[in-house]
Amino acid sequence: MTLSDIEIASFRDVFVRIKSELLVIDDSIITDRHHASNGNYVDTDPQNQIGGIIPAFSLSGWLRHGMECVVQRYGRTACHPGESNANFRKEGLYNRDLDAGYHPKGECLDEYEDGCVIFDLFGGFGNFPGNVMRRPIKFSPVRTSVDYTRGQAEGHYRRLNRNVVSRNEGDNREPLRNTEVDAVANLDGAWHLSFREVKPEFIGLLAEGVEYLNTHQTDFMHQLGGARNFGGGIVDCELVNPLYEESEFWRVFDRGKSNTNKMDTKDDEWAHDYLPEFQSALTERVETRQ
Ligand SMILES: [Zn+2]
Repeated sequence: MTLSDIEIASFRDVFVRIKSELLVIDDSIITDRHHASNGNYVDTDPQNQIGGIIPAFSLSGWLRHGMECVVQRYGRTACHPGESNANFRKEGLYNRDLDAGYHPKGECLDEYEDGCVIFDLFGGFGNFPGNVMRRPIKFSPVRTSVDYTRGQAEGHYRRLNRNVVSRNEGDNREPLRNTEVDAVANLDGAWHLSFREVKPEFIGLLAEGVEYLNTHQTDFMHQLGGARNFGGGIVDCELVNPLYEESEFWRVFDRGKSNTNKMDTKDDEWAHDYLPEFQSALTERVETRQ
């Protein structure tokens, strides 16, 4: 198969399966606890049927970082995510990043209309939003109400309490304050990404980026969200085979069912016919441009 045989527009919508035992997205998980609480909501009640939304910001940064690493492994620099004139808290930080595999955001536009592949995907300046649309993930503890085809997940809202105690010996570990963080436990679902314009190198980079994140899931730098030193943010991820039909897609998330023979055939097709084409499109874009 060659790229010209592939109908690239059919890859506009893709899904990344995301599994994590614990995710702490700092303060930014939006819950719908009012929905099930009926006026007598108790934080610690395991029967709480609370769902919510994981905003796309953290997910986006996590994915972008994985993709940047792929580009850097090709020996090329990636677009820096921050503006060069931003007020960084640490002096010299930006320049240090530039030495470590980044070029100033948007500098790649000087030579190419669409910039580097990271810029092309994530955008940058004002009127250029980037070609990949990242959606939030809606999660629910009630599996039957999760629509994976709409980029949703099964997940259980938890509120974690931490007592911060005094370290001073005379205080006998007297509590100083209590902090609460929102978390999602046992997350399993689909993250929906769509491309405004689909280019073969985008699919190649997405596939390689997701694989990179999966194999580096315990690296501090590639965990997702907060609580990384406490077992949070370790994510199993994979690109769901874009060749699957809807019924096959549902099977992926069904613990009671395994792949059909047809799905196995599609996995082979994806790995041997499609992916190499997308990967060489990526190689060509990344390696032929300085
Ligand atoms: Zn760039």
